[in-house]
Amino acid sequence: MPCPPEGYYPMDEFDPLFGAALDTLAVRAGQTRSHEGEHSEALYLTSSYVFANAREAADRFSGSQPGNVYSRYTNPTVRTFEERIAALEGAETAVATSSGMAAILCTCIALLKAGDHIVCSRSVFGTTTVLFTKYLQKFGVSTTFVNPTDYSAWEAAFTPATRLVFVETPSNPLCDVVDIARLADISHAHSALLVVDNCFCTPALQKPLALGADLVVHSATKYIDGQGRCLGGVVAGPRQYVDEVLGFIRSAGPSMSPFNAWVFLKGLETLRLRMEAHSRNAMSLAQWLAAHPQVEKVFYAGLPDHLGHALAARQQSAFGGVLSFRVNGGREEAWKVIDATRIMSLTANLGDAKTTIVHPATTTHGRLSPEQKADAGITENLIRIAVGLEDINDLKADLARGLGDYRV
Ligand SMILES: *Cc1c(COP(=O)(O)O)cnc(C)c1O
Repeated sequence: MPCPPEGYYPMDEFDPLFGAALDTLAVRAGQTRSHEGEHSEALYLTSSYVFANAREAADRFSGSQPGNVYSRYTNPTVRTFEERIAALEGAETAVATSSGMAAILCTCIALLKAGDHIVCSRSVFGTTTVLFTKYLQKFGVSTTFVNPTDYSAWEAAFTPATRLVFVETPSNPLCDVVDIARLADISHAHSALLVVDNCFCTPALQKPLALGADLVVHSATKYIDGQGRCLGGVVAGPRQYVDEVLGFIRSAGPSMSPFNAWVFLKGLETLRLRMEAHSRNAMSLAQWLAAHPQVEKVFYAGLPDHLGHALAARQQSAFGGVLSFRVNGGREEAWKVIDATRIMSLTANLGDAKTTIVHPATTTHGRLSPEQKADAGITENLIRIAVGLEDINDLKADLARGLGDYRV
């Protein structure tokens, strides 16, 4: 896979990673060895840094000399993570945050002001909806939610105050696929910035910046960690915008822990291998479910009858690890399938080696009103699975138990 298409990193042709492919950058980008010569990235578990003398302290504080001052501002392990993400996304720079939600919040606070307007896909992570409607609203930033695959709805939602467009693709849980290049053109025609939450694909499968997006945000908690250990987030894009976000983080405090950054660095080393394995397992499970008599419908962009199939095939290098499906029946039948599993974990997290299963209507999307749920297609018989790395036949057998119980 060629990477990064817009190649900001490394910028210097004398850098040994100049022009390197994604797999190489995922393993090596951003590392600088200390005098100890450690092979694995060093974990700088320190909150502050010592200065050689009072002059150096004064110069570091004033910013006239570059260097570390305090880990809310900079930390070498966190910086390695930021540089590696920037390299993978083909971004000029990146800044890490304490969680995915902090990445979204900090982007909005840094780039918006009272009176501004957001146009957002209605199929975004539930907490993003809560953040925009309940909290940003309090500070005079309003949001209009649109059906993400209806481009005339996107067009119609812009007002002269629209500054930011926010989208997740593929979406959670129905795997709606949005044309990033097309949405970037629409956003730019209205002088708005397009922010893409690239959590579900990661840069291993999709490069929003190369498609025209202005900023990428991530919950590193998911596939970047890949084993469900740490919370974190990151914002990647041009220095012009990311520096604004960085400025806010330094003042407000949602910085990434160096320990978490170190875990994410280890996760990134296997990112593409994992994403391909997740995608392979998800495809197999989607096909099996689609042929099952007790399954009403499967939502996975890898299936040829999914509305977003052709677009996803063009825009992504694989279809990802998340799928959802409707069982015949309602809540009772869906809960029965979930409760009959013995391998899958009943948890809302995703992007883990362990497969997770959840009932969106009563958990991740439980805070939506009945109308919002109906609008977003979150029915009572819907189940979401974030397919992990276990053997696919064991996963099928785990679901067959619950589906078989009421087979006619
Ligand atoms: C989990 C998630 C978030 C929020 O990330 P946290 O790390 O939990 O704060 C944002 N967007 C998407 C798509 C997510 O799945």
